[in-house]
Amino acid sequence: MSALQSLRTGIGLDVHTLIAGRPLWLAGLHWADSDVGLAGHSDGDVVAHAICDALLSAAGLGDLGSQFGTSDPQWSGASGVALVAETARRLGLAGVTVGNVSAQVIGNEPKFNPRRIEAENILTQALGASVSLSATTTDGLGLTGRGEGMAAIATALVQLETSP
Ligand code: MG
Repeated sequence: MSALQSLRTGIGLDVHTLIAGRPLWLAGLHWADSDVGLAGHSDGDVVAHAICDALLSAAGLGDLGSQFGTSDPQWSGASGVALVAETARRLGLAGVTVGNVSAQVIGNEPKFNPRRIEAENILTQALGASVSLSATTTDGLGLTGRGEGMAAIATALVQLETSP
Protein backbone atom coordinates (compact mmCIF):
# COMPACT_ATOMS: atom_id res chain seq x y z
CA MET A 1 0.00 0.00 0.00
CA SER A 2 1.47 3.35 -1.05
CA ALA A 3 1.47 6.40 1.21
CA LEU A 4 -1.36 7.84 -0.88
CA GLN A 5 -3.41 4.64 -0.63
CA SER A 6 -3.08 4.68 3.15
CA LEU A 7 -5.10 7.91 3.17
CA ARG A 8 -8.85 7.25 3.18
CA THR A 9 -11.87 9.53 3.09
CA GLY A 10 -15.25 8.68 4.53
CA ILE A 11 -18.70 10.23 4.44
CA GLY A 12 -21.54 10.21 6.94
CA LEU A 13 -25.10 11.50 6.90
CA ASP A 14 -27.64 11.57 9.70
CA VAL A 15 -31.20 12.81 10.15
CA HIS A 16 -33.34 12.92 13.29
CA THR A 17 -36.87 14.11 13.98
CA LEU A 18 -37.45 17.29 15.99
CA ILE A 19 -40.01 16.82 18.74
CA ALA A 20 -41.40 19.09 21.44
CA GLY A 21 -40.43 18.67 25.07
CA ARG A 22 -37.04 17.10 24.48
CA PRO A 23 -33.71 18.83 25.18
CA LEU A 24 -31.81 19.77 22.04
CA TRP A 25 -28.29 18.33 21.81
CA LEU A 26 -26.48 19.39 18.66
CA ALA A 27 -22.77 19.29 17.78
CA GLY A 28 -21.90 18.30 21.33
CA LEU A 29 -23.71 21.27 22.88
CA HIS A 30 -26.95 21.64 24.82
CA TRP A 31 -29.16 24.33 23.28
CA ALA A 32 -31.19 25.36 26.31
CA ASP A 33 -33.28 27.99 24.48
CA SER A 34 -34.77 25.48 22.03
CA ASP A 35 -38.29 24.21 22.78
CA VAL A 36 -37.78 21.21 20.47
CA GLY A 37 -35.13 18.51 20.56
CA LEU A 38 -33.85 15.68 18.39
CA ALA A 39 -35.47 12.28 18.95
CA GLY A 40 -33.43 9.10 19.07
CA HIS A 41 -32.13 6.11 21.01
CA SER A 42 -29.17 8.29 22.01
CA ASP A 43 -29.26 12.06 22.47
CA GLY A 44 -30.07 12.43 18.76
CA ASP A 45 -27.04 14.60 17.99
CA VAL A 46 -27.03 14.43 14.18
CA VAL A 47 -23.67 16.19 13.88
CA ALA A 48 -21.87 13.79 16.20
CA HIS A 49 -23.51 10.80 14.50
CA ALA A 50 -22.58 11.96 10.99
CA ILE A 51 -19.00 12.47 12.21
CA CYS A 52 -18.85 8.95 13.68
CA ASP A 53 -20.20 7.43 10.46
CA ALA A 54 -17.68 9.37 8.35
CA LEU A 55 -14.83 8.19 10.58
CA LEU A 56 -15.95 4.55 10.63
CA SER A 57 -16.50 4.59 6.87
CA ALA A 58 -13.02 6.02 6.22
CA ALA A 59 -11.48 3.42 8.53
CA GLY A 60 -13.39 0.54 6.96
CA LEU A 61 -15.04 -0.23 10.30
CA GLY A 62 -18.67 -0.15 9.20
CA ASP A 63 -21.02 2.40 10.70
CA LEU A 64 -22.63 3.54 13.96
CA GLY A 65 -25.36 0.91 13.77
CA SER A 66 -22.93 -1.97 13.36
CA GLN A 67 -20.45 -0.63 15.95
CA PHE A 68 -22.82 0.49 18.70
CA GLY A 69 -26.22 -1.03 17.90
CA THR A 70 -29.43 0.94 18.12
CA SER A 71 -30.88 -1.57 20.60
CA ASP A 72 -27.83 -1.85 22.88
CA PRO A 73 -28.88 -0.41 26.28
CA GLN A 74 -25.26 0.61 26.95
CA TRP A 75 -25.65 3.38 24.35
CA SER A 76 -29.20 4.39 25.27
CA GLY A 77 -29.14 8.15 25.82
CA ALA A 78 -25.42 8.26 24.97
CA SER A 79 -24.11 11.74 24.33
CA GLY A 80 -22.76 12.65 20.93
CA VAL A 81 -19.46 13.63 22.49
CA ALA A 82 -19.15 10.21 24.16
CA LEU A 83 -19.85 8.45 20.86
CA VAL A 84 -17.22 10.53 19.05
CA ALA A 85 -14.67 9.79 21.78
CA GLU A 86 -15.43 6.07 21.72
CA THR A 87 -15.27 6.00 17.91
CA ALA A 88 -11.86 7.70 18.09
CA ARG A 89 -10.72 5.07 20.60
CA ARG A 90 -11.87 2.23 18.34
CA LEU A 91 -10.07 3.72 15.33
CA GLY A 92 -6.93 4.04 17.43
CA LEU A 93 -7.14 0.35 18.37
CA ALA A 94 -7.40 -0.47 14.65
CA GLY A 95 -4.22 1.50 13.95
CA VAL A 96 -6.07 4.33 12.21
CA THR A 97 -4.92 7.94 12.63
CA VAL A 98 -7.47 10.70 12.09
CA GLY A 99 -6.41 13.64 9.92
CA ASN A 100 -9.45 15.86 10.18
CA VAL A 101 -13.23 15.96 10.04
CA SER A 102 -15.51 18.53 8.43
CA ALA A 103 -19.24 18.54 9.14
CA GLN A 104 -22.22 20.64 8.08
CA VAL A 105 -25.47 21.10 10.00
CA ILE A 106 -28.62 21.41 7.90
CA GLY A 107 -31.63 23.06 9.53
CA ASN A 108 -33.47 26.30 10.26
CA GLU A 109 -32.97 26.60 14.01
CA PRO A 110 -31.03 27.12 16.18
CA LYS A 111 -28.79 29.76 14.66
CA PHE A 112 -25.54 27.83 14.66
CA ASN A 113 -22.83 30.34 13.91
CA PRO A 114 -22.76 32.09 17.31
CA ARG A 115 -21.71 28.79 18.94
CA ARG A 116 -19.67 27.33 16.08
CA ILE A 117 -16.28 27.74 17.75
CA GLU A 118 -17.57 26.31 21.04
CA ALA A 119 -18.90 23.25 19.18
CA GLU A 120 -15.69 22.83 17.18
CA ASN A 121 -13.66 22.91 20.38
CA ILE A 122 -15.69 20.28 22.23
CA LEU A 123 -15.79 17.89 19.25
CA THR A 124 -12.10 18.43 18.43
CA GLN A 125 -11.25 17.59 22.03
CA ALA A 126 -13.42 14.45 21.93
CA LEU A 127 -11.89 13.27 18.66
CA GLY A 128 -8.29 14.26 19.25
CA ALA A 129 -8.11 15.75 15.74
CA SER A 130 -9.48 18.84 14.05
CA VAL A 131 -13.25 19.12 13.61
CA SER A 132 -14.47 22.06 11.54
CA LEU A 133 -18.17 22.88 11.33
CA SER A 134 -20.51 24.88 9.15
CA ALA A 135 -24.27 25.27 8.83
CA THR A 136 -26.81 25.81 6.09
CA THR A 137 -30.55 25.87 5.49
CA THR A 138 -32.50 24.36 2.61
CA ASP A 139 -34.39 27.53 1.71
CA GLY A 140 -37.53 26.25 3.45
CA LEU A 141 -37.60 23.04 1.40
CA GLY A 142 -37.83 19.45 2.60
CA LEU A 143 -37.96 18.01 6.10
CA THR A 144 -35.33 20.37 7.47
CA GLY A 145 -36.93 23.37 5.79
CA ARG A 146 -40.30 22.52 7.33
CA GLY A 147 -38.66 22.14 10.73
CA GLU A 148 -39.62 18.47 10.98
CA GLY A 149 -36.05 17.43 11.62
CA MET A 150 -32.40 18.26 11.33
CA ALA A 151 -29.68 16.72 9.22
CA ALA A 152 -25.90 16.70 9.18
CA ILE A 153 -23.29 15.54 6.72
CA ALA A 154 -19.65 14.90 7.47
CA THR A 155 -16.44 13.87 5.79
CA ALA A 156 -13.34 12.44 7.42
CA LEU A 157 -9.77 11.91 6.33
CA VAL A 158 -7.82 9.15 8.03
CA GLN A 159 -4.56 7.28 7.58
CA LEU A 160 -4.43 3.50 7.84
CA GLU A 161 -1.49 1.82 9.49
CA THR A 162 1.19 1.12 6.90
CA SER A 163 3.30 -1.97 7.36
CA PRO A 164 6.94 -1.10 8.10
MG1 MG B 1 -28.38 9.26 14.47
